[in-house]
Amino acid sequence: MKKLLCILALAVVGCGREWTAASPGEQGARALLVCLNMPTEEAEPAAQAVEVWNHALGGWRGLTPSVGGRSDCDVTVDVVDTKETWCGHTSELGGNHVVLNSTCLKDTYAIVMHELGHVFGAQHAPNTLMAPTLSGMYSWAGSGTLCPDKTTIAQVAAYQRISLTTLSWCY
Ligand SMILES: [Zn+2]
Repeated sequence: MKKLLCILALAVVGCGREWTAASPGEQGARALLVCLNMPTEEAEPAAQAVEVWNHALGGWRGLTPSVGGRSDCDVTVDVVDTKETWCGHTSELGGNHVVLNSTCLKDTYAIVMHELGHVFGAQHAPNTLMAPTLSGMYSWAGSGTLCPDKTTIAQVAAYQRISLTTLSWCY
């Protein structure tokens, strides 16, 4: 529960990590609906990941998580049963369809954090949220919480052709 509160608090005040801006919250940020197609219990950490990205992108896009089937989604997160070894997959760089492997649901927060990085245009980079393996991501985060770092956010800014100063990152 403490970890949960910590993650929730991250979006607002930080939790062991600092953010470049407490809440950019510029007017006019276009809203994106992120649909989490999974049972409510499993959706909770995924929704937390969406909230943390919302904090990072708040000057550019407002992200709202929604649990359950809707048809007006901007980004969709599905869970599949597969024997393949990957835990998360995004349709393409900048794509809007994320798939989680049901065998990895204990790591839903970390996987959704990482895959949303791909959705917004970040590629793999060592020692960041975009480390290519879960162990690499956890080792980068250490005892802190996984959050969008400056390297990741700079990739997003370059991909989306927006000013880095519009965005926030943790450090
Ligand atoms: Zn990846």
